[in-house]
Amino acid sequence: MPIAYNRRTHKNGELRTQHAGQEVILVGWAQNYRDLGGMAFIDIRDYTGITQVKFNPQTDPVAHKLAGTIRREDVIAVRGNVALRGENINPKLPTGEIEVEGHELDILAKADTPPFEVDDDNEAGEDARLKYRVVDLRRPKMQKILRLRHRLAKAARDYFDSAGFIEIETPVLGKSTPEGARDYLVPSRVYPGKFFALPQSPQLYKQLFMMAGFDRYCQIVRCFRDEDLRADRQPEFTQVDLEMAFVQVDDVLEVVEGATQKMFAEGIGVEVKRPFPRMTYREAMDRFGIDRPDLRFGLEIKDLTELAGKTDFSIFRDALAAGGVVRCLVVPGGADLTRKTTDGLTDEIKGIGGGGLPVTKVIAGANGAPELSTGVAKFLQPHCAELLAASGAMVGDAIFFMPGKYADVCKYLHHVRTRLGEILNLIPEDEWNLLWVVDFPMFEYDEAEKRYVSLHHPFTAPRDEDVHLLDTEPGKVLAKAYDLTLNGIEMAGGSIRIHQREIQAKVFRLLGIKDEEAHEKFQFLMDALRFGAPPHGGIAMGFDRWVMMLAKCSSLRDVIAFPKTQRAVCPLTNAPGEVSPAQLEELGIDLRPEVKAKKK
Ligand code: ASP
Repeated sequence: MPIAYNRRTHKNGELRTQHAGQEVILVGWAQNYRDLGGMAFIDIRDYTGITQVKFNPQTDPVAHKLAGTIRREDVIAVRGNVALRGENINPKLPTGEIEVEGHELDILAKADTPPFEVDDDNEAGEDARLKYRVVDLRRPKMQKILRLRHRLAKAARDYFDSAGFIEIETPVLGKSTPEGARDYLVPSRVYPGKFFALPQSPQLYKQLFMMAGFDRYCQIVRCFRDEDLRADRQPEFTQVDLEMAFVQVDDVLEVVEGATQKMFAEGIGVEVKRPFPRMTYREAMDRFGIDRPDLRFGLEIKDLTELAGKTDFSIFRDALAAGGVVRCLVVPGGADLTRKTTDGLTDEIKGIGGGGLPVTKVIAGANGAPELSTGVAKFLQPHCAELLAASGAMVGDAIFFMPGKYADVCKYLHHVRTRLGEILNLIPEDEWNLLWVVDFPMFEYDEAEKRYVSLHHPFTAPRDEDVHLLDTEPGKVLAKAYDLTLNGIEMAGGSIRIHQREIQAKVFRLLGIKDEEAHEKFQFLMDALRFGAPPHGGIAMGFDRWVMMLAKCSSLRDVIAFPKTQRAVCPLTNAPGEVSPAQLEELGIDLRPEVKAKKK
C-alpha cells in the first residue's frame, strides 16, 4: 500500500527528542542521498526544515534499495520511527538530535538534476535563479522572505481593518494618474486606436471613495510604472494604499505609525517607538543634502557661504557669483583618510556630474594651533579660525568642500556623506531609523521644460498659509505632503489632497495642464469635486521595499516571487513576448517597419 502522503504526521523541521519512538509519515524533497557503511541516508526537506532518514538494508531491504535510486529534488514520502541519534547528533540542525528509521519509501515524482542546489550557502547567479525560479524559491532564504511578506501584508490588513478601513478594489484597466512615470498601455480591441492605462497608483479612485462617503479605504494593490529601470525599481510593484476623509496631516501619520509598529512587531519581532521624529524637507536638505536622510550616523553638512565670500579662492567666488552656495562636510578623525580614499571620492563626484571635491585636513601647527594642510589650504589658511568655527572642525578632522548651485551641492555632499558612512563603517546594522519628512515644496521648476512640475502629484494640497502664494510665488508654496523614511530609504509617501475645485483648477493651470487637457483627463475628478468633497488625505507604502528592508535584503527581486529583471523582462516566462499578426490586426495595430525589421 502506498504511503498516505496526504496524512503526513509532521513537517520536516518539527521532530525533536520527545518524539522518539513515534511512527511518523514525512513528505518533501530529497535534499541529498548518502551511503555510509551500508546504511542509506536521505535528508528530506520542506519549508520548515530538514529531517535525516536512515534506511537499514537488514531490517528494511525494499525501502533501502529504493533509497539508493533517490536523486536530489525527487519528491518522496517516508514512513518510519523517530530514533535518537545518540552520539551522532548534528548541532547545526534543529532536528539534529533525532533521525527517522525509514521502513517505507515512496517516490512521488522523479526530478531531473536541478540547475543549482537548493541551498542558501551557494547562491546561484541571478539569471539562473530567475529562470528556474521554482527551484530557487525552495531555498530556505526565499521561503522565509515570502512568508515574511505574507505576515507583513496580514499585519497591515489586520491593522487597517481594526482601525475602520475597508478594502475596495480599484480598476486595473483605467486612465492613467500622473505619478511621474510612463504608463503601461493596453490597447482596446473594441475601440481600435484607444488605450487603457494600467494604474501607476489608484490615486484618483481612492479620492473618489472619500467623496463617495467611504471615510477610510485601504488596499494592497498592484501598480505599474514604465520607468527607466534603476536597481531598486520594478515595473509592477505593490503598495499598501490608503485614504481617509476629514483628516489633517497628523491623523494620517498617526495611523501609519500604528501600522508600522504592528508590521515590525509581527513581521520581525522588533518594537519601534512612537511617535516617529519629524523633520522638514528644508532641514533635511540643509543638514543632509537629501529628502530621505539616514540618521543612523552623523556627518552633517555645514554652510560656509558667508565665509566663502571673504576668501580669494576662485572656485568659491565663482560659485557665489553664479548665485550658488559653498557648503562642507566635516569628517571627525578624517585627517587619517588616505589619498586613495579622497581621490576615489573625487572621482565618484566627477562620475555623477560634479566638478571635483576640494578637501583639506586640520592638523596641529608648529605652535600647537590648528593649521590647514594639503589641498586647498593655501586659500583658506587666512580664514582658518573662522572656518573651524563655522564648520565645527577640529584638529585631526578633514573638511570636504562643495561649491555650486544649492541643489547640486546637496546631491554631491549627500553622495560623499553616504560613501563616507560606508567607508568608515559608521552605519550601525541593527538600527531602525524611522523618520517623517514633512513640508515638501509643492512644485519644482523644470529648467528643461521651463515650467513647474509637482514634487508629489497634482492633487496634493498646499499648506493653508501658503495658498495665497499660488498666484505670486508658486516656487515658495509648501505642500501638506509627507514621506516616511527608514534608514535613508523612502518607505511611504502621501499628502492631504485638494478638495476645492477652484484650487485644483488653479494647480492644473500652474502645472501647464491646459483647461481642455484637464477636462479630457480629469473631468471625472472635477465633477466629483462639484458635488461635495470632504477634506481628505492619504498615503501609499511601497510594500516591496518594506519587505526588502525588514528582511534585510539588498534587492527587490528577492522579495517578489516572480520579478522582472533590471531590463524589465521576466526570464521565467520570457514576457514580454510577441503576439500573432491576427491579434495585432484585431487591435488595429500595425508595427512600424523599423520595428518589424528588428524582429527578423
Ligand atoms: N499615489 C501616491 C503614490 O503612489 C501616494 C499618495 O499620495 O497616496 O506615490
